[in-house]
Amino acid sequence: SLASKTAVVTGSTSGIGLAIARVFAKDGANVVINGFGDAAAIEKERAGIEQEFGVKALYSAADMTKPDQIAAMVADAEKAFGSVDVLVNNAGIQFVAPIEEFPVEKWDQIIAINLSAAFHATRAAIPGMKSRKWGRIINTASAHSKVASPFKSAYVAAKHGIAGLTKTAALELAPHGVTVNCISPGYVWTPLVEKQIPDTMKARGLTREQVINDVLLEAQPTKEFVTVDQVAALALFLCGDAASQITGANLSMDGGWTAE
Ligand code: NAD
Repeated sequence: SLASKTAVVTGSTSGIGLAIARVFAKDGANVVINGFGDAAAIEKERAGIEQEFGVKALYSAADMTKPDQIAAMVADAEKAFGSVDVLVNNAGIQFVAPIEEFPVEKWDQIIAINLSAAFHATRAAIPGMKSRKWGRIINTASAHSKVASPFKSAYVAAKHGIAGLTKTAALELAPHGVTVNCISPGYVWTPLVEKQIPDTMKARGLTREQVINDVLLEAQPTKEFVTVDQVAALALFLCGDAASQITGANLSMDGGWTAE
């Protein structure tokens, strides 16, 4: 179990990250949650985790576009709880537009949040993990780390990048008891997916129902969305002893999408 361990989960005020933070807390970990949102709602979530699972939960407002804030988030977690044993690089955003119309600042923001933030957090967490000879780094990649879709240039580039970072870190840390893997979900019903529907309607000239059925679920042979709890269960599995020889892997959970 994760009792007496500490997990930092970036982008965990919503969606997949929140489900991961909660399942880790349920397993006994102290957790650092991070991300944006309504302050009162975040505080309610944080306090709720402490109360429901009997662990400590800290909120970090670190902006994943800011390397110094990312390093401070890891340092603050180590100061508060004594270690960062599990790091989940999960924060991510999406933007849908053809390349020639893709706003340059959106490209930079997506590369920063979806890719570079994982580098900065991993860099900050490694010394402590190495010194304790144990660690788990889990990156939320995507089916888009393996295949592309039109109009998602920055996202696909960042996710392919995080798959490469995962493999590199896995090789560097293999002798030190630290595993590094990525999870690659297909479509999971979260605000990130819901918010891209209007732009996808525009980019492809489709209705909302057509986007859900002919674009999103069309990609997944099961014709079902992945759930946040399914992703969280895989993340928890990767923290366990049974997963100690899984490293450098890019694990799909995509209803068969990337098998096609
Ligand atoms: P979400 O929108 O529900 O959650 C995203 C989280 O990231 C939120 O907590 C948000 O506040 C946080 N965030 C955004 N910008 C941030 C910043 N600058 N600094 C700190 N935090 C920031 O989305 P989700 O679907 O749960 O996505 C989580 C991860 O899963 C992302 O990396 C996403 O690419 C990936 N993913 C999602 C799907 C899907 O279908 N939903 C599929 C594959 C991969």
